[in-house]
Amino acid sequence: MLMARCIKCNYLLVLLPKRNKYKCPRCSSLFPEKEIDNKEFRIYNQRQRDIDREELEFEIKQYKEEKLKRRLERQKKLQKKLWRQNNNEHYREWKKQHRLKQIEKIRQQDRIQFWRKQQKALVLQRLENEQYKASKHGIRSSGSTYLTND
Ligand SMILES: [Zn+2]
Repeated sequence: MLMARCIKCNYLLVLLPKRNKYKCPRCSSLFPEKEIDNKEFRIYNQRQRDIDREELEFEIKQYKEEKLKRRLERQKKLQKKLWRQNNNEHYREWKKQHRLKQIEKIRQQDRIQFWRKQQKALVLQRLENEQYKASKHGIRSSGSTYLTND
């Protein structure tokens, strides 16, 4: 069952079942079966424990990483949600402000148009007056020249 090794030269031992002993084919050393089995078993156990511990540590590490990943994903989702909510508020606020600005703009345009109309009316009125004066003056001047030339 176990790959028992020679204590002296580390060569692979061969079990002699009838003598309950291990024999080293290289240095011919003999070891009681129990002693070697115990030693090998301890080593085997130790190795198994090391492997188990490594696996466990690996699993713990993986578990922690998974947990961290999930937490980061949850945080990201929450941030996105908050961002969307904030943005929604921003958007709504922007829309409101935009609408108010539009209303203000329309009012201003109406006012400008009103004043333009008023100014136009005034200018027309003034023009009419001047034309009236000019024509009156013209008649008089032409009349006077006509009179002086005569
Ligand atoms: Zn040996």
